[in-house]
Amino acid sequence: MALDAPLRTLFDYRLPEGVDAGALSLGLRIEVPFGRRRMVGVLAGIAATSALPASKLRAATAVLDAEPALDPVTFGLVRWAADYYHHPVGEAFAAALPVALRAGRPLLARETRWQLVPSAEEAIAAAKRLGPRQRALLTALGAHDSLGAEELAALGAGAAAPLRDFAARGWVRSFEVAPPAAEAPTGAVAPGPALTAAQARAVEAILGTAPGFAPFLLYGVTGSGKTEVYLRAIEAVLAAGRQALVLVPEIALTPQAVARFRARFAVPLAVLHSALADGERLAMWRLARSGEAPLVIGTRSAVFVPLARPGIVIVDEEHDASYKQQEGFRYSARDLAVLRAQRHGIPVLLGSATPSLETLHQAASGRYRRLDLPERAGSAGAPSLALVDLRVHEERHGLATPAVLAMHRHLDAGGQVLLYLNRRGYAPSLYCAGCGWAAPCSACDARLTVHLKAHRLVCHHCGASAPVPYACPRCSTELKPLGQGTERIEDALDALFPGVPVVRIDRDTIRSRDEIEAALGRVHSGEARILVGTQMLTKGHDFPDVTLVVVLNADQGLFGTDFRASERLAQSIVQVAGRAGRASRPGEVLIQSACPGHPLLARLLEGGYEGFATAALAEREAAALPPFQRLAVLRAEAARREDGLDFLASARRAAGTPAGVRLLGPAPAVLERRAGRFRAQLLLESAGRGPLQALLAAWLPAVEALPEARRVRMAIDVDPLEVT
Ligand code: ADP
Ligand code: ZN
Ligand code: ZN
Repeated sequence: MALDAPLRTLFDYRLPEGVDAGALSLGLRIEVPFGRRRMVGVLAGIAATSALPASKLRAATAVLDAEPALDPVTFGLVRWAADYYHHPVGEAFAAALPVALRAGRPLLARETRWQLVPSAEEAIAAAKRLGPRQRALLTALGAHDSLGAEELAALGAGAAAPLRDFAARGWVRSFEVAPPAAEAPTGAVAPGPALTAAQARAVEAILGTAPGFAPFLLYGVTGSGKTEVYLRAIEAVLAAGRQALVLVPEIALTPQAVARFRARFAVPLAVLHSALADGERLAMWRLARSGEAPLVIGTRSAVFVPLARPGIVIVDEEHDASYKQQEGFRYSARDLAVLRAQRHGIPVLLGSATPSLETLHQAASGRYRRLDLPERAGSAGAPSLALVDLRVHEERHGLATPAVLAMHRHLDAGGQVLLYLNRRGYAPSLYCAGCGWAAPCSACDARLTVHLKAHRLVCHHCGASAPVPYACPRCSTELKPLGQGTERIEDALDALFPGVPVVRIDRDTIRSRDEIEAALGRVHSGEARILVGTQMLTKGHDFPDVTLVVVLNADQGLFGTDFRASERLAQSIVQVAGRAGRASRPGEVLIQSACPGHPLLARLLEGGYEGFATAALAEREAAALPPFQRLAVLRAEAARREDGLDFLASARRAAGTPAGVRLLGPAPAVLERRAGRFRAQLLLESAGRGPLQALLAAWLPAVEALPEARRVRMAIDVDPLEVT
């Protein structure tokens, strides 16, 4: 049994009373005793013997399902992922299944209906001391053949208690039925536009391949109409009676994005994202599993949703970091999507304007077929890119004069302006010119960010916060906020562009899906003229009237410590630049930098993302980094600095000198102290997947058994996104 417990093992149980092994299949949910609790586990194997002595072997309590919750491919995918990412298999299943199913809710949708017992009529008529509400309920039951939860709720609050009471008296009985089928939306389905030549070639390539596994990279510049290609591919899949699974980054799954799919297909849609309540999630999951929803759209964990008739998998914005879970079960939904499609024997489409270097490498080596959409669809042309040299043009309030002039020009012409700065808050530090004190976080190796409207200093690493002090606590000198955050830019705009409506989009102003919808609504209606925001703005939104994009500080990403920092910066710049000039008006992009001669910026301006990526891949190859090497990181966190480093040193010794794997470290993390805990890491590199996987499988159990392991919190990250 796979149980939701942080142990790298399966658990053995005897069969439940009266159940025959032949009647069981892998993937069934089974309730078992665990300690003093009962748990819902997933059947992961059937064996004739156990290493446990018979006296210790407990019996499972009940088989919950008549059929496995996961189809064989999804079941195999979870097991493979648990092995590959070296995560406890029970926790992997827990991540794959809706919470409601782990709590024992029924696999199949069932509706409970209530009905009067005909023979009880006399007893009811004779009954005394019934309140008016109870009488009304009995009358309603008498007037209908049966009533379901919705009809009962319509009668007024609280039918549950009286129904229990009536049932106990033998007056009513309940029974279960399948609920009515999901309703397909009605209404006109809009036809798509005529495809551009490049779109038509891409669609043809996808639909024209022989049945079976076929991985594609759809590399289309922003605004090239990738979604239209998805829609045509989905159309064909649905017409063939199969299902399409579309994965999108968390932040991109707005009602607006879903509406685009809804407008094209009059079919029930299953939409899965992290903001769903448990019951809603289960309902959506069931629609996908039963095949009732031919189109399934979801974020990361939807890669594990079972499908009745899989036909295609699409991963939109495949480069997006949100596809890699960064804690717990550290899987890559993008990579698993490809494996899943392979196992189903269906096409998989990875789409992006800025593909990850991993995916570009797969395409270059011929493993993925590359489909290009090199031009924007419709009448929009590519935006022009230019640098603003901050060494020549002084910036005031974060904006250099050429940028301010350009803003006036575009606003006067009726365009909208987008300012991108990947730093929220008012200023990234609060500084004392008298003694050099710069408000540090007491729990992290980091400075506190000034949030002026909230009157707080906030640590963006651990969340700690404190009031803003009036003067330096060391020398009483007046303090100055140093640097720019989105909140400060918004303030400055008030002074620079009085009366021009501004909308700010970052994690401080947007805390829910409703808030992002409201903000986007102000942009689309044209009410807001200037948009200021962080990374949030770069993800897939379409702003047709934005004609100018200013990247306020490109230098933040130029000197990042992580080997992927430059890739991420290039992606952000290209993605945010892609928001400009999406409609008929030409777009202009200004990038403010104090190092305009930096080779990354130069390459990006000359050769676009493609030019950057070619050079970056050559650098990765020379430096033996992914995608030319496999990496894994063993991380440790401890209350004392030595505990983490000692543990990792022992772990390294325990590995000996493994064939084909290099161990580097231990070394403290770049941000060594976070939330009061010291962080360190040991890096493992290998030219191939095999040697690294072999080492991890043999080594991790020994590492966990080290005496030093008890003083640390450890985690293994295979194919890490960051190694800082
Ligand atoms: P991407 O996802 O590649 O950035 P979108 O799919 O959002 O691009 O398309 C950008 C815009 O171009 C959208 O407004 C879309 O409706 C439009 N569009 C897409 N394909 C066509 C086409 N063949 N003809 C005209 N307009 C198109
Ligand atoms: Zn001071
Ligand atoms: Zn902190």
